Formats: sequence, C-alpha cells, structure tokens
Amino acid sequence: MKRCDLHMHSTHSDGTVPPRELVQLAKEAGLACIALTDHDTLDGVREAQEEGRRLGVEVIPGVEISVKFEPGTLHILGYFVDLNSKELAAGLEKVQQARKERNPKIIELLRTSGVEITLEEVERESNGGQIGRPHFARVLIRKGYAKDSKEAFQKYLSKGASAYVDKRNLTSQEALDLINRSGGVASIAHPKQMKLDETPSQLEAEVKRLKTEGMLGIEAYSSCQSREEASVYRALAERLGLLVTGGSDFHGSNKPNIRLGQMGQGAAIPYETVDQMRKIILDRKL
Ligand code: AMP
Ligand code: FE
Ligand code: FE
Ligand code: ZN
Repeated sequence: MKRCDLHMHSTHSDGTVPPRELVQLAKEAGLACIALTDHDTLDGVREAQEEGRRLGVEVIPGVEISVKFEPGTLHILGYFVDLNSKELAAGLEKVQQARKERNPKIIELLRTSGVEITLEEVERESNGGQIGRPHFARVLIRKGYAKDSKEAFQKYLSKGASAYVDKRNLTSQEALDLINRSGGVASIAHPKQMKLDETPSQLEAEVKRLKTEGMLGIEAYSSCQSREEASVYRALAERLGLLVTGGSDFHGSNKPNIRLGQMGQGAAIPYETVDQMRKIILDRKL
C-alpha cells in the first residue's frame, strides 16, 4: 500500500525541520505522498516539491489556517491550493500580520509575569520563519522559566494562561472561502482540539455548520487522537458525507514524540484519500 502523511510543519512555521529535509525524512519513512501544511504560510511548499521530484515523493501543496472558534481551537487544513492565488496570498498575509502584532504583546505580558525575554531571542529561535508560540516556549525553556514545552504552555502561552494573546482574525467561513476559491480541498485539522468531544451533539452540529460553509473533510487520524476517537470522527464523516483525512502533525523537535508517517496506533493513510481529493477537484470543474 502507498502510504501518505497529510499534516506536517517545517521551519517556515513552528516545525524544526526545513522542507527539503522533511521530504528526505518522508522518503526514509517509506511515504509515497506528503502534504506540507505550515501554519498560515505556503512559503515552504516549492522547496519541498522540488526535493519531492528528486526523491520520488509526491508533495501536495497545503496550509493550516487558525480561525476564530470557541471553546477549543479550530485549525483548517487546505490541500491542493493554488500557490499562485493572489486572493489566498492576501488572506494569509492578513493572518501573518496579526501574528507580527501579537509577538510584542506576548513579550509585554511575560514581563508583567516576571519573565524577561526579548523579541530578538524569539526571532532567533524561529530562524527567519514565521514566529509561533512554540518559539516562545523554546526560549522560556532555555532560560529556565519552564522545564518543557507542556509547562511553558500551561504557565504562560495557552488560552487562559498569563501571556496568552488571541491572534485569530479570520472566521471559518473566510478561511474556507480562501481555500475553496483557490481550488483547494478543506479538512478539519485534529477535531479533538475543538474540545467538543464531551458533547457529541454539539460536535456534530458544528461539523455540519462547517460543511455548509464549504468544509469537505475531517482529520480522523492524528497523533493527538486515539484509535477510539478516530472511529468517532470516521463515523461522523460517514454520516455527514465528509472525506476522512489524516496526518501526523509532525513538528520536529518542537513535539518530540510525534514521528513522520505515524498518526495514532499504526493507522496509515492510504493513497486513495489523495485520489478522492483529486476527484472532488475534477468534479468541481465539470
Ligand atoms: P500559534 O500558531 O503561534 O498560536 O501556536 C500554536 C501552536 O502551538 C500549535 O500549532 C502547536 O504547535 C503549539 N501548541 C499549542 N498548544 C500547545 C501545548 N499545550 N503544548 C505544546 N504545544 C502547543
Ligand atoms: Fe504548530
Ligand atoms: Fe494545528
Ligand atoms: Zn499542524
């Protein structure tokens, strides 16, 4: 079986592995196809595709967009988006701007909590890629303010913690329009993080709403979701007529327990999933 991994991050967002090396790791892991899905940017895709052509690994252009949502977080994956879409580029630019405006605010709130770090230190951690909270976490750990990433988020960076700043400025409808109008296929990233599992009827209602807004899939398989959770999302996908997608959400050493190509107890994403996405795109053009 040709195996795929449809969710991963490079140094262009909060992963620690550059796109080219990510493709090399994918090759070593025996993957036939990957999607690079950096947060709010397409910047790493071309490099990954170039390496993919060299090594015989198919690289799907992807992106993961954070949108306004309560009570948990909602990230939307976009696959096969047009890298030349001006509208998508402008939309992502808006999100990136919100990130830039957030960074000094986080530094300020940390200072209020007695933590002395500078923006320059965080910038160095991101190596020119987009800054995300995991980069703040690394500085906090390095300077002894937290023992690991989990603690850094709990104490300072998570929603509700002392230095949390909300940066999400797109609605789900806006993000879905960006993805669909640029020819892409949208899927709900790690639905567990929506934090609606305790209220299945609410989860179903939200997923239905997202479908009416243009969502086409749901990521049943993710390294943050158990086998049982995956079957709940799979059943939901079947009831609502959504595509089942999956990926590791690999971030390199920012999330050291996640391995490329692995997404919860040995589940594998077959190449048929990619064929199904292609079919959706073709049918849309007819
Ligand atoms: P940002 O996009 O800057 O808001 O950061 C969100 C990213 O931080 C997520 O994609 C994860 O990579 C990471 N993250 C969020 N919550 C946690 C957590 N509790 N522990 C570790 N990493 C987290
Ligand atoms: Fe991330
Ligand atoms: Fe995510
Ligand atoms: Zn992700």
